[in-house]
Amino acid sequence: MTSPASITNWDDETDVLIAGYGVAGCAAAIEAHDRDPSADVLIVEKMTEARAGGNGRVSGQSLLISHNAEALYQYQRAMSAKNPVPDDMLREWARQMAGLESYIVERSKEAGTQYVRGSGWSEGDAVYEFPEFGAENAVAYNAIIKPIPSGVWITMKNCVEKRRVRRQYESPIVDLVQDPDTLEVHGAIVQHEGRRKAIRARRGVVLAVGGYASNGDMQRDYYGLPESAPFGSPANTGDGVRILQKAGADLWHMRNFGQSGGIWPAVKVPEFSGVFMRRHLWQTFSWFDIAADNRRFYNEGADLYYTHYKERKHGHWVDTPLPRALPAHMLFDETTRENNCLITQAMTWNTVVEKYEWSDDNVAEIDRGWVLRADTIEELAVKMGRDPAAVRAAVDRYNAACARGVDEDFGRPSYTLQPLATAPYYALALVPGLVCTSGGGRRNIESQVLDQTGQPIPRLYEAGELGSMISDLYQNGSYLTEAMISGRAAGRNAVLAKS
Ligand SMILES: Cc1cc2nc3c(=O)[nH]c(=O)nc-3n(C[C@H](O)[C@H](O)[C@H](O)COP(=O)(O)OP(=O)(O)OC[C@H]3O[C@@H](n4cnc5c(N)ncnc54)[C@H](O)[C@@H]3O)c2cc1C
Repeated sequence: MTSPASITNWDDETDVLIAGYGVAGCAAAIEAHDRDPSADVLIVEKMTEARAGGNGRVSGQSLLISHNAEALYQYQRAMSAKNPVPDDMLREWARQMAGLESYIVERSKEAGTQYVRGSGWSEGDAVYEFPEFGAENAVAYNAIIKPIPSGVWITMKNCVEKRRVRRQYESPIVDLVQDPDTLEVHGAIVQHEGRRKAIRARRGVVLAVGGYASNGDMQRDYYGLPESAPFGSPANTGDGVRILQKAGADLWHMRNFGQSGGIWPAVKVPEFSGVFMRRHLWQTFSWFDIAADNRRFYNEGADLYYTHYKERKHGHWVDTPLPRALPAHMLFDETTRENNCLITQAMTWNTVVEKYEWSDDNVAEIDRGWVLRADTIEELAVKMGRDPAAVRAAVDRYNAACARGVDEDFGRPSYTLQPLATAPYYALALVPGLVCTSGGGRRNIESQVLDQTGQPIPRLYEAGELGSMISDLYQNGSYLTEAMISGRAAGRNAVLAKS
Protein backbone atom coordinates (compact mmCIF):
# COMPACT_ATOMS: atom_id res chain seq x y z
CA MET A 1 0.00 0.00 0.00
CA THR A 2 0.99 3.61 -0.47
CA SER A 3 0.38 5.84 2.54
CA PRO A 4 -1.47 9.15 2.07
CA ALA A 5 1.41 10.89 3.84
CA SER A 6 3.71 9.93 0.98
CA ILE A 7 1.53 11.70 -1.60
CA THR A 8 2.74 15.26 -2.04
CA ASN A 9 0.52 16.01 -4.99
CA TRP A 10 -2.58 14.20 -6.33
CA ASP A 11 -2.45 13.94 -10.12
CA ASP A 12 -6.23 13.66 -10.40
CA GLU A 13 -9.28 13.60 -8.13
CA THR A 14 -12.67 11.94 -8.40
CA ASP A 15 -15.52 10.84 -6.17
CA VAL A 16 -15.62 7.19 -7.23
CA LEU A 17 -12.65 5.51 -8.87
CA ILE A 18 -13.42 2.26 -10.68
CA ALA A 19 -10.61 0.04 -11.94
CA GLY A 20 -11.57 -2.18 -14.88
CA TYR A 21 -13.92 -1.51 -17.81
CA GLY A 22 -15.56 -4.94 -17.91
CA VAL A 23 -19.18 -5.77 -17.11
CA ALA A 24 -18.63 -5.32 -13.34
CA GLY A 25 -16.87 -1.98 -13.77
CA CYS A 26 -19.63 -0.79 -16.12
CA ALA A 27 -22.36 -1.84 -13.66
CA ALA A 28 -20.55 0.03 -10.88
CA ALA A 29 -20.18 3.17 -13.00
CA ILE A 30 -23.81 3.18 -14.15
CA GLU A 31 -25.08 2.74 -10.60
CA ALA A 32 -22.73 5.33 -9.10
CA HIS A 33 -23.79 7.86 -11.69
CA ASP A 34 -27.51 7.14 -11.41
CA ARG A 35 -27.52 7.26 -7.60
CA ASP A 36 -25.77 10.63 -7.62
CA PRO A 37 -25.57 12.27 -11.04
CA SER A 38 -23.53 15.12 -9.55
CA ALA A 39 -20.74 12.73 -8.55
CA ASP A 40 -17.56 12.48 -10.58
CA VAL A 41 -16.95 8.87 -11.66
CA LEU A 42 -13.69 7.77 -13.27
CA ILE A 43 -12.94 4.38 -14.81
CA VAL A 44 -9.29 3.45 -15.24
CA GLU A 45 -8.64 0.59 -17.64
CA LYS A 46 -5.41 -1.32 -18.22
CA MET A 47 -5.85 -1.93 -21.94
CA THR A 48 -6.24 0.40 -24.91
CA GLU A 49 -9.81 1.38 -25.78
CA ALA A 50 -9.80 -1.19 -28.60
CA ARG A 51 -8.81 -4.05 -26.26
CA ALA A 52 -10.83 -3.18 -23.17
CA GLY A 53 -13.78 -5.23 -21.99
CA GLY A 54 -12.16 -8.24 -20.38
CA ASN A 55 -13.64 -11.69 -20.29
CA GLY A 56 -17.20 -10.40 -20.55
CA ARG A 57 -16.54 -9.07 -24.04
CA VAL A 58 -15.41 -12.46 -25.31
CA SER A 59 -17.73 -14.61 -23.23
CA GLY A 60 -20.63 -16.81 -24.27
CA GLN A 61 -23.00 -13.93 -23.31
CA SER A 62 -25.27 -16.32 -21.45
CA LEU A 63 -27.20 -14.75 -18.57
CA LEU A 64 -28.88 -16.74 -15.82
CA ILE A 65 -32.46 -15.59 -15.37
CA SER A 66 -34.31 -16.71 -12.27
CA HIS A 67 -37.77 -15.79 -11.04
CA ASN A 68 -37.66 -17.91 -7.92
CA ALA A 69 -35.38 -16.56 -5.19
CA GLU A 70 -35.95 -19.42 -2.77
CA ALA A 71 -35.22 -22.11 -5.37
CA LEU A 72 -32.16 -20.24 -6.61
CA TYR A 73 -30.87 -19.87 -3.06
CA GLN A 74 -31.27 -23.61 -2.48
CA TYR A 75 -29.62 -24.45 -5.79
CA GLN A 76 -26.62 -22.17 -5.25
CA ARG A 77 -26.28 -23.40 -1.68
CA ALA A 78 -26.13 -27.00 -2.90
CA MET A 79 -23.57 -26.09 -5.58
CA SER A 80 -21.46 -24.31 -2.95
CA ALA A 81 -21.68 -27.11 -0.37
CA LYS A 82 -17.96 -27.94 -0.63
CA ASN A 83 -17.07 -24.39 0.42
CA PRO A 84 -20.16 -22.70 1.86
CA VAL A 85 -20.86 -19.04 1.25
CA PRO A 86 -22.45 -17.10 4.14
CA ASP A 87 -26.16 -17.80 4.16
CA ASP A 88 -27.29 -14.17 4.39
CA MET A 89 -25.15 -13.33 1.36
CA LEU A 90 -26.60 -16.19 -0.66
CA ARG A 91 -30.18 -15.30 0.25
CA GLU A 92 -29.77 -11.64 -0.67
CA TRP A 93 -27.93 -12.52 -3.89
CA ALA A 94 -30.79 -14.85 -4.86
CA ARG A 95 -33.37 -12.15 -4.03
CA GLN A 96 -31.57 -9.66 -6.26
CA MET A 97 -31.09 -12.24 -9.02
CA ALA A 98 -34.82 -12.92 -9.11
CA GLY A 99 -35.36 -9.23 -9.93
CA LEU A 100 -32.41 -8.72 -12.26
CA GLU A 101 -34.12 -9.40 -15.58
CA SER A 102 -35.89 -6.03 -15.66
CA TYR A 103 -32.54 -4.28 -15.06
CA ILE A 104 -30.97 -6.17 -17.97
CA VAL A 105 -33.92 -5.50 -20.28
CA GLU A 106 -33.80 -1.80 -19.39
CA ARG A 107 -30.07 -1.59 -20.10
CA SER A 108 -30.52 -3.39 -23.40
CA LYS A 109 -33.27 -1.00 -24.49
CA GLU A 110 -31.17 1.97 -23.48
CA ALA A 111 -28.18 0.63 -25.39
CA GLY A 112 -30.15 -0.29 -28.51
CA THR A 113 -29.21 -3.97 -28.31
CA GLN A 114 -31.48 -7.02 -28.39
CA TYR A 115 -32.34 -9.04 -25.31
CA VAL A 116 -33.19 -12.62 -26.33
CA ARG A 117 -34.56 -15.43 -24.23
CA GLY A 118 -32.62 -18.68 -24.80
CA SER A 119 -28.98 -19.48 -24.28
CA GLY A 120 -27.66 -20.36 -27.68
CA TRP A 121 -25.94 -23.20 -25.84
CA SER A 122 -28.70 -25.73 -26.07
CA GLU A 123 -31.85 -26.29 -28.03
CA GLY A 124 -33.93 -25.49 -24.98
CA ASP A 125 -34.32 -22.13 -23.28
CA ALA A 126 -32.22 -23.04 -20.30
CA VAL A 127 -29.04 -24.85 -19.37
CA TYR A 128 -29.65 -26.88 -16.23
CA GLU A 129 -26.11 -27.73 -15.18
CA PHE A 130 -26.86 -29.75 -12.05
CA PRO A 131 -30.47 -30.94 -12.09
CA GLU A 132 -30.08 -33.03 -8.92
CA PHE A 133 -29.45 -29.81 -6.96
CA GLY A 134 -32.68 -28.20 -8.13
CA ALA A 135 -31.66 -26.43 -11.34
CA GLU A 136 -35.07 -26.71 -12.97
CA ASN A 137 -36.83 -24.73 -10.27
CA ALA A 138 -34.03 -22.24 -9.87
CA VAL A 139 -33.37 -21.36 -13.51
CA ALA A 140 -36.29 -19.80 -15.39
CA TYR A 141 -34.20 -19.67 -18.55
CA ASN A 142 -30.93 -18.38 -19.90
CA ALA A 143 -30.83 -15.25 -22.01
CA ILE A 144 -28.33 -13.55 -24.27
CA ILE A 145 -27.99 -10.07 -25.68
CA LYS A 146 -27.40 -9.61 -29.39
CA PRO A 147 -25.19 -8.74 -31.22
CA ILE A 148 -23.15 -11.87 -30.76
CA PRO A 149 -20.31 -11.71 -29.94
CA SER A 150 -19.98 -9.25 -27.06
CA GLY A 151 -23.66 -8.20 -26.73
CA VAL A 152 -23.66 -8.03 -22.93
CA TRP A 153 -20.50 -5.95 -22.72
CA ILE A 154 -21.56 -3.71 -25.63
CA THR A 155 -24.82 -3.06 -23.79
CA MET A 156 -23.15 -2.09 -20.53
CA LYS A 157 -20.48 -0.05 -22.28
CA ASN A 158 -23.07 1.88 -24.34
CA CYS A 159 -24.93 2.68 -21.12
CA VAL A 160 -21.73 3.97 -19.51
CA GLU A 161 -21.00 6.10 -22.55
CA LYS A 162 -24.43 7.72 -22.31
CA ARG A 163 -23.55 8.95 -18.83
CA ARG A 164 -21.09 11.49 -17.47
CA VAL A 165 -18.42 8.93 -16.64
CA ARG A 166 -14.78 9.67 -17.37
CA ARG A 167 -12.66 6.87 -18.83
CA GLN A 168 -8.91 6.60 -18.98
CA TYR A 169 -7.23 3.79 -20.94
CA GLU A 170 -3.76 2.25 -20.69
CA SER A 171 -3.87 3.04 -16.99
CA PRO A 172 -3.60 -0.11 -14.89
CA ILE A 173 -4.22 0.31 -11.19
CA VAL A 174 -1.12 -0.90 -9.34
CA ASP A 175 -1.68 0.06 -5.72
CA LEU A 176 -4.08 1.65 -3.26
CA VAL A 177 -3.42 4.77 -1.25
CA GLN A 178 -4.38 3.65 2.20
CA ASP A 179 -4.04 4.72 5.80
CA PRO A 180 -1.61 2.16 7.28
CA ASP A 181 -3.39 2.23 10.67
CA THR A 182 -7.09 2.22 9.75
CA LEU A 183 -6.70 0.72 6.23
CA GLU A 184 -9.09 3.43 4.97
CA VAL A 185 -8.64 3.86 1.22
CA HIS A 186 -8.00 7.41 -0.01
CA GLY A 187 -7.24 6.71 -3.64
CA ALA A 188 -5.08 4.64 -5.92
CA ILE A 189 -1.86 4.58 -7.88
CA VAL A 190 -2.23 4.11 -11.59
CA GLN A 191 0.56 3.52 -14.09
CA HIS A 192 0.16 5.82 -17.08
CA GLU A 193 2.61 6.79 -19.82
CA GLY A 194 5.54 5.39 -17.90
CA ARG A 195 4.82 7.10 -14.58
CA ARG A 196 2.89 6.42 -11.41
CA LYS A 197 -0.07 8.74 -11.03
CA ALA A 198 -1.83 9.26 -7.71
CA ILE A 199 -5.61 9.57 -8.05
CA ARG A 200 -7.59 10.70 -5.05
CA ALA A 201 -10.98 9.01 -4.60
CA ARG A 202 -13.07 11.08 -2.22
CA ARG A 203 -15.77 8.44 -1.68
CA GLY A 204 -14.35 5.07 -2.64
CA VAL A 205 -12.40 2.76 -4.93
CA VAL A 206 -13.98 -0.17 -6.77
CA LEU A 207 -11.70 -2.99 -7.91
CA ALA A 208 -13.29 -4.70 -10.92
CA VAL A 209 -10.17 -5.90 -12.70
CA GLY A 210 -11.22 -9.51 -13.31
CA GLY A 211 -9.41 -12.68 -12.34
CA TYR A 212 -6.05 -14.36 -12.94
CA ALA A 213 -6.65 -16.86 -15.73
CA SER A 214 -3.85 -15.15 -17.67
CA ASN A 215 -1.28 -15.59 -14.92
CA GLY A 216 0.48 -18.96 -15.22
CA ASP A 217 2.34 -18.55 -11.92
CA MET A 218 -0.88 -17.90 -10.00
CA GLN A 219 -2.49 -20.89 -11.68
CA ARG A 220 0.39 -23.05 -10.51
CA ASP A 221 0.61 -21.56 -7.01
CA TYR A 222 -3.08 -21.22 -6.20
CA TYR A 223 -4.74 -23.71 -8.46
CA GLY A 224 -2.10 -26.39 -8.87
CA LEU A 225 -2.40 -26.32 -12.65
CA PRO A 226 1.07 -26.97 -14.07
CA GLU A 227 0.03 -25.76 -17.47
CA SER A 228 -3.00 -23.73 -18.54
CA ALA A 229 -3.94 -20.88 -20.82
CA PRO A 230 -6.81 -18.37 -20.93
CA PHE A 231 -9.73 -18.14 -23.31
CA GLY A 232 -10.28 -14.59 -22.11
CA SER A 233 -8.43 -11.31 -21.78
CA PRO A 234 -4.62 -11.27 -21.53
CA ALA A 235 -5.10 -8.32 -19.14
CA ASN A 236 -6.52 -10.57 -16.42
CA THR A 237 -3.25 -11.32 -14.71
CA GLY A 238 -4.44 -11.18 -11.11
CA ASP A 239 -3.48 -7.55 -10.49
CA GLY A 240 -6.44 -7.26 -8.14
CA VAL A 241 -5.26 -10.19 -6.01
CA ARG A 242 -1.82 -8.61 -5.60
CA ILE A 243 -3.33 -5.23 -4.68
CA LEU A 244 -5.76 -6.83 -2.21
CA GLN A 245 -2.94 -8.77 -0.54
CA LYS A 246 -1.09 -5.53 0.08
CA ALA A 247 -4.30 -3.88 1.26
CA GLY A 248 -4.80 -6.36 4.11
CA ALA A 249 -7.78 -8.14 2.56
CA ASP A 250 -8.72 -11.69 3.40
CA LEU A 251 -8.69 -13.88 0.28
CA TRP A 252 -11.21 -16.53 -0.65
CA HIS A 253 -12.09 -18.99 -3.43
CA MET A 254 -8.52 -19.08 -4.71
CA ARG A 255 -8.87 -22.85 -5.09
CA ASN A 256 -12.29 -24.40 -5.18
CA PHE A 257 -13.06 -28.13 -5.03
CA GLY A 258 -13.35 -27.92 -8.80
CA GLN A 259 -12.35 -25.15 -11.19
CA SER A 260 -15.73 -23.38 -11.22
CA GLY A 261 -15.56 -22.20 -14.81
CA GLY A 262 -14.13 -25.52 -15.86
CA ILE A 263 -10.92 -26.73 -17.45
CA TRP A 264 -11.77 -27.07 -21.12
CA PRO A 265 -9.86 -28.72 -23.97
CA ALA A 266 -8.13 -25.88 -25.75
CA VAL A 267 -5.83 -25.32 -28.67
CA LYS A 268 -2.63 -23.33 -28.23
CA VAL A 269 -0.68 -22.08 -31.20
CA PRO A 270 2.53 -20.02 -31.08
CA GLU A 271 0.97 -17.00 -32.79
CA PHE A 272 -1.41 -16.24 -29.86
CA SER A 273 -0.91 -16.01 -26.09
CA GLY A 274 -4.46 -17.17 -25.40
CA VAL A 275 -6.13 -20.34 -26.58
CA PHE A 276 -8.92 -21.42 -28.91
CA MET A 277 -11.82 -23.34 -27.39
CA ARG A 278 -12.36 -26.76 -28.93
CA ARG A 279 -15.77 -27.22 -30.48
CA HIS A 280 -18.59 -28.61 -28.27
CA LEU A 281 -21.36 -29.78 -30.54
CA TRP A 282 -20.14 -32.27 -33.14
CA GLN A 283 -21.71 -33.22 -36.47
CA THR A 284 -19.63 -36.41 -36.52
CA PHE A 285 -17.83 -38.31 -33.77
CA SER A 286 -14.93 -40.09 -35.44
CA TRP A 287 -12.49 -38.66 -32.88
CA PHE A 288 -11.13 -39.25 -29.39
CA ASP A 289 -8.47 -37.85 -27.05
CA ILE A 290 -5.30 -39.54 -25.77
CA ALA A 291 -3.06 -38.76 -22.81
CA ALA A 292 0.72 -38.85 -22.35
CA ASP A 293 0.58 -42.66 -22.08
CA ASN A 294 -1.22 -42.94 -25.45
CA ARG A 295 -4.50 -44.02 -23.86
CA ARG A 296 -7.90 -42.41 -23.61
CA PHE A 297 -8.49 -40.81 -20.23
CA TYR A 298 -12.17 -39.76 -19.91
CA ASN A 299 -15.58 -39.90 -21.51
CA GLU A 300 -15.15 -37.41 -24.35
CA GLY A 301 -18.65 -38.05 -25.68
CA ALA A 302 -20.45 -36.85 -22.54
CA ASP A 303 -22.30 -33.52 -22.57
CA LEU A 304 -19.44 -31.89 -20.69
CA TYR A 305 -20.11 -28.42 -22.08
CA TYR A 306 -23.35 -28.41 -20.04
CA THR A 307 -21.48 -28.95 -16.77
CA HIS A 308 -18.46 -26.73 -17.38
CA TYR A 309 -16.32 -29.81 -17.91
CA LYS A 310 -17.23 -31.47 -14.66
CA GLU A 311 -17.86 -35.22 -14.63
CA ARG A 312 -19.42 -37.21 -11.84
CA LYS A 313 -16.90 -39.52 -10.17
CA HIS A 314 -17.45 -41.49 -6.96
CA GLY A 315 -20.52 -39.37 -6.20
CA HIS A 316 -18.82 -35.99 -6.72
CA TRP A 317 -18.63 -33.50 -9.57
CA VAL A 318 -14.94 -33.12 -10.43
CA ASP A 319 -12.90 -31.60 -13.23
CA THR A 320 -12.12 -33.80 -16.20
CA PRO A 321 -8.50 -35.01 -15.89
CA LEU A 322 -6.95 -33.13 -18.84
CA PRO A 323 -4.34 -31.26 -16.70
CA ARG A 324 -3.04 -34.59 -15.42
CA ALA A 325 -2.97 -36.18 -18.87
CA LEU A 326 -0.56 -33.85 -20.69
CA PRO A 327 0.69 -33.96 -23.32
CA ALA A 328 -2.70 -34.76 -24.82
CA HIS A 329 -3.90 -34.99 -28.40
CA MET A 330 -7.21 -35.24 -30.14
CA LEU A 331 -7.12 -37.83 -32.95
CA PHE A 332 -9.64 -37.72 -35.78
CA ASP A 333 -10.22 -38.79 -39.34
CA GLU A 334 -11.17 -37.17 -42.63
CA THR A 335 -14.92 -37.37 -41.93
CA THR A 336 -14.62 -35.29 -38.78
CA ARG A 337 -12.19 -32.87 -40.44
CA GLU A 338 -14.63 -32.25 -43.30
CA ASN A 339 -17.75 -31.81 -41.19
CA ASN A 340 -16.67 -29.80 -38.14
CA CYS A 341 -14.81 -26.58 -37.60
CA LEU A 342 -12.58 -27.72 -34.75
CA ILE A 343 -13.04 -24.64 -32.59
CA THR A 344 -15.78 -22.36 -31.24
CA GLN A 345 -15.75 -19.07 -33.11
CA ALA A 346 -18.40 -17.17 -31.09
CA MET A 347 -16.31 -16.62 -27.96
CA THR A 348 -12.67 -16.30 -26.82
CA TRP A 349 -10.17 -13.48 -27.14
CA ASN A 350 -8.44 -15.03 -30.17
CA THR A 351 -11.60 -15.05 -32.27
CA VAL A 352 -13.52 -12.01 -30.94
CA VAL A 353 -10.77 -9.44 -30.30
CA GLU A 354 -7.85 -10.77 -32.34
CA LYS A 355 -10.48 -11.66 -34.96
CA TYR A 356 -8.88 -14.91 -36.11
CA GLU A 357 -11.33 -16.72 -38.39
CA TRP A 358 -10.69 -20.46 -38.16
CA SER A 359 -11.62 -22.09 -41.46
CA ASP A 360 -14.79 -24.22 -41.50
CA ASP A 361 -12.94 -27.16 -43.04
CA ASN A 362 -9.76 -26.61 -40.97
CA VAL A 363 -7.61 -26.66 -44.11
CA ALA A 364 -5.98 -23.28 -43.44
CA GLU A 365 -4.94 -24.45 -39.97
CA ILE A 366 -3.59 -27.74 -41.35
CA ASP A 367 -1.55 -25.71 -43.82
CA ARG A 368 -0.25 -23.53 -40.96
CA GLY A 369 0.91 -26.69 -39.19
CA TRP A 370 -1.48 -26.19 -36.23
CA VAL A 371 -3.18 -29.49 -37.08
CA LEU A 372 -1.04 -32.52 -37.99
CA ARG A 373 -2.02 -34.70 -40.96
CA ALA A 374 -0.79 -38.11 -42.18
CA ASP A 375 -2.00 -40.89 -44.42
CA THR A 376 -1.60 -43.54 -41.73
CA ILE A 377 -2.00 -43.63 -37.95
CA GLU A 378 1.63 -44.70 -37.60
CA GLU A 379 2.92 -41.75 -39.61
CA LEU A 380 0.70 -39.44 -37.59
CA ALA A 381 2.12 -40.86 -34.35
CA VAL A 382 5.65 -40.06 -35.53
CA LYS A 383 4.61 -36.47 -36.27
CA MET A 384 3.17 -36.23 -32.74
CA GLY A 385 6.39 -37.58 -31.26
CA ARG A 386 4.59 -40.68 -29.96
CA ASP A 387 5.19 -44.41 -30.21
CA PRO A 388 3.44 -45.59 -33.44
CA ALA A 389 2.53 -49.01 -32.05
CA ALA A 390 0.97 -47.48 -28.92
CA VAL A 391 -1.09 -44.98 -30.90
CA ARG A 392 -2.17 -47.73 -33.29
CA ALA A 393 -3.27 -49.78 -30.28
CA ALA A 394 -5.31 -46.83 -28.93
CA VAL A 395 -7.07 -46.42 -32.28
CA ASP A 396 -7.73 -50.17 -32.55
CA ARG A 397 -9.16 -50.25 -29.03
CA TYR A 398 -11.42 -47.27 -29.68
CA ASN A 399 -12.53 -48.63 -33.07
CA ALA A 400 -13.32 -51.99 -31.48
CA ALA A 401 -15.53 -50.23 -28.91
CA CYS A 402 -17.29 -48.50 -31.81
CA ALA A 403 -17.85 -51.88 -33.52
CA ARG A 404 -19.38 -53.24 -30.31
CA GLY A 405 -21.36 -50.06 -29.67
CA VAL A 406 -20.14 -50.13 -26.08
CA ASP A 407 -17.27 -48.15 -24.52
CA GLU A 408 -16.23 -50.35 -21.62
CA ASP A 409 -13.41 -47.99 -20.65
CA PHE A 410 -15.32 -44.75 -20.05
CA GLY A 411 -18.97 -45.27 -20.96
CA ARG A 412 -19.00 -42.94 -23.94
CA PRO A 413 -22.56 -42.78 -25.30
CA SER A 414 -23.13 -45.26 -28.10
CA TYR A 415 -24.35 -42.63 -30.58
CA THR A 416 -20.92 -40.95 -30.30
CA LEU A 417 -19.00 -44.16 -30.99
CA GLN A 418 -17.88 -43.61 -34.58
CA PRO A 419 -14.59 -45.19 -35.69
CA LEU A 420 -11.58 -43.45 -37.17
CA ALA A 421 -12.09 -45.08 -40.54
CA THR A 422 -11.29 -42.64 -43.32
CA ALA A 423 -7.77 -41.46 -44.15
CA PRO A 424 -6.04 -39.10 -43.92
CA TYR A 425 -5.82 -38.91 -40.14
CA TYR A 426 -5.26 -35.85 -38.00
CA ALA A 427 -3.99 -34.83 -34.57
CA LEU A 428 -4.57 -31.66 -32.58
CA ALA A 429 -2.54 -30.92 -29.44
CA LEU A 430 -4.77 -30.04 -26.46
CA VAL A 431 -4.00 -27.90 -23.42
CA PRO A 432 -6.19 -26.96 -20.43
CA GLY A 433 -8.11 -23.76 -21.21
CA LEU A 434 -9.60 -21.54 -18.51
CA VAL A 435 -12.81 -19.59 -18.78
CA CYS A 436 -12.33 -17.65 -15.57
CA THR A 437 -11.29 -17.74 -11.91
CA SER A 438 -13.22 -16.95 -8.72
CA GLY A 439 -10.46 -16.03 -6.27
CA GLY A 440 -9.94 -12.60 -4.78
CA GLY A 441 -10.83 -10.60 -1.72
CA ARG A 442 -13.48 -11.97 0.62
CA ARG A 443 -16.46 -9.67 0.27
CA ASN A 444 -19.99 -9.25 1.51
CA ILE A 445 -23.17 -8.72 -0.47
CA GLU A 446 -22.58 -4.94 -0.30
CA SER A 447 -19.32 -5.57 -2.24
CA GLN A 448 -17.25 -4.31 0.68
CA VAL A 449 -13.86 -6.01 0.89
CA LEU A 450 -13.26 -7.67 4.25
CA ASP A 451 -10.02 -7.75 6.18
CA GLN A 452 -8.70 -10.81 8.00
CA THR A 453 -10.96 -10.11 11.00
CA GLY A 454 -14.07 -9.94 8.82
CA GLN A 455 -14.35 -6.15 9.01
CA PRO A 456 -14.90 -4.07 5.86
CA ILE A 457 -11.84 -2.17 4.71
CA PRO A 458 -13.17 1.41 4.63
CA ARG A 459 -13.96 2.73 1.14
CA LEU A 460 -12.75 -0.38 -0.68
CA TYR A 461 -15.17 -2.30 -2.89
CA GLU A 462 -14.73 -5.24 -5.23
CA ALA A 463 -16.95 -6.59 -7.98
CA GLY A 464 -17.20 -9.30 -10.60
CA GLU A 465 -14.88 -12.21 -11.15
CA LEU A 466 -12.23 -10.86 -8.75
CA GLY A 467 -13.38 -12.35 -5.44
CA SER A 468 -16.50 -13.91 -6.97
CA MET A 469 -18.87 -15.63 -4.57
CA ILE A 470 -18.86 -18.74 -6.80
CA SER A 471 -17.12 -21.18 -4.47
CA ASP A 472 -17.40 -24.46 -6.35
CA LEU A 473 -19.90 -25.60 -8.96
CA TYR A 474 -21.04 -23.02 -11.45
CA GLN A 475 -24.38 -22.60 -13.20
CA ASN A 476 -24.16 -21.19 -16.72
CA GLY A 477 -24.85 -17.45 -16.78
CA SER A 478 -23.93 -16.74 -13.16
CA TYR A 479 -20.66 -14.90 -13.66
CA LEU A 480 -22.03 -12.13 -15.88
CA THR A 481 -25.08 -11.62 -13.68
CA GLU A 482 -22.94 -11.65 -10.54
CA ALA A 483 -20.73 -9.00 -12.16
CA MET A 484 -23.87 -6.87 -12.55
CA ILE A 485 -25.16 -7.44 -9.01
CA SER A 486 -21.82 -6.96 -7.27
CA GLY A 487 -20.92 -4.05 -9.56
CA ARG A 488 -24.17 -2.30 -8.77
CA ALA A 489 -23.66 -2.74 -5.03
CA ALA A 490 -20.08 -1.48 -5.27
CA GLY A 491 -21.06 1.60 -7.28
CA ARG A 492 -24.03 2.36 -5.03
CA ASN A 493 -22.15 2.02 -1.76
CA ALA A 494 -19.10 3.89 -2.99
CA VAL A 495 -21.04 6.88 -4.28
CA LEU A 496 -23.28 7.08 -1.22
CA ALA A 497 -20.33 7.02 1.20
CA LYS A 498 -19.72 10.47 2.69
CA SER A 499 -16.54 12.12 1.44
C1 LIG B 1 -14.69 -17.69 -23.21
C2 LIG B 1 -15.51 -17.26 -22.02
C3 LIG B 1 -16.85 -17.57 -21.98
C4 LIG B 1 -17.64 -17.16 -20.89
N1 LIG B 1 -18.99 -17.36 -20.95
C5 LIG B 1 -19.76 -16.87 -19.96
C6 LIG B 1 -21.19 -16.95 -20.07
O1 LIG B 1 -21.74 -17.37 -21.09
N2 LIG B 1 -21.93 -16.49 -19.02
C7 LIG B 1 -21.35 -15.97 -17.88
O2 LIG B 1 -22.08 -15.60 -16.96
N3 LIG B 1 -20.00 -15.85 -17.79
C8 LIG B 1 -19.21 -16.26 -18.80
N4 LIG B 1 -17.85 -16.11 -18.71
C9 LIG B 1 -17.28 -15.46 -17.52
C10 LIG B 1 -17.54 -13.95 -17.55
O3 LIG B 1 -17.26 -13.45 -18.82
C11 LIG B 1 -16.67 -13.22 -16.53
O4 LIG B 1 -16.70 -13.86 -15.29
C12 LIG B 1 -17.16 -11.78 -16.36
O5 LIG B 1 -17.06 -11.11 -17.58
C13 LIG B 1 -16.36 -11.06 -15.30
O6 LIG B 1 -16.61 -9.68 -15.41
P1 LIG B 1 -15.58 -8.66 -14.76
O7 LIG B 1 -16.06 -7.31 -15.15
O8 LIG B 1 -15.41 -8.98 -13.34
O9 LIG B 1 -14.18 -8.99 -15.45
P2 LIG B 1 -13.73 -8.80 -16.95
O10 LIG B 1 -14.89 -8.91 -17.88
O11 LIG B 1 -12.62 -9.73 -17.20
O12 LIG B 1 -13.20 -7.28 -17.01
C14 LIG B 1 -12.03 -6.90 -16.31
C15 LIG B 1 -11.52 -5.58 -16.89
O13 LIG B 1 -10.45 -5.11 -16.07
C16 LIG B 1 -9.34 -4.75 -16.88
N5 LIG B 1 -8.13 -4.83 -16.06
C17 LIG B 1 -7.37 -5.90 -15.73
N6 LIG B 1 -6.37 -5.54 -14.90
C18 LIG B 1 -6.51 -4.21 -14.69
C19 LIG B 1 -5.80 -3.24 -13.90
N7 LIG B 1 -4.71 -3.57 -13.17
N8 LIG B 1 -6.23 -1.95 -13.91
C20 LIG B 1 -7.31 -1.58 -14.66
N9 LIG B 1 -8.00 -2.45 -15.42
C21 LIG B 1 -7.62 -3.75 -15.42
C22 LIG B 1 -9.43 -5.69 -18.06
O14 LIG B 1 -8.72 -5.22 -19.18
C23 LIG B 1 -10.94 -5.73 -18.28
O15 LIG B 1 -11.36 -4.67 -19.11
C24 LIG B 1 -17.03 -16.47 -19.80
C25 LIG B 1 -15.67 -16.16 -19.85
C26 LIG B 1 -14.90 -16.52 -20.96
C27 LIG B 1 -13.46 -16.12 -21.01
